[in-house]
Amino acid sequence: MTNPPPFPTRIWVGGYEFPMTLVDAADPRLDGDDGIFSHDETYRGILVCATLGTYRTIEVALHEITHAINWTCDIFTLEDMAEEEAATTKQGAAWARVYVDNPKFCKWLNHAVQQVRKERASA
Ligand SMILES: [Zn+2]
Repeated sequence: MTNPPPFPTRIWVGGYEFPMTLVDAADPRLDGDDGIFSHDETYRGILVCATLGTYRTIEVALHEITHAINWTCDIFTLEDMAEEEAATTKQGAAWARVYVDNPKFCKWLNHAVQQVRKERASA
């Protein structure tokens, strides 16, 4: 039996590379939350609490990645930041359900993504 893949240490979103780190629940950067996305000068990256359980870890990782998408793609303005948090929470929860509830979609998506990588590598 093979070991499960490790939590990724980085993710590319909109041309930016963000470090991804599982951290202790007591990490002060979490400020009591389950995860954070930060793009300020002191830290750019995603932190996820390491003790959430697998489903909640998926949900929180997708939530923080959605923040990264919103930021890199200018989806919300500064005036909309309260709405951005609410929408991001719904997106993270919805994508976690879509992935968990649709194994055939995930299998197809993984295959399709591998195919695109092969095509790009040979182009
Ligand atoms: Zn958030």
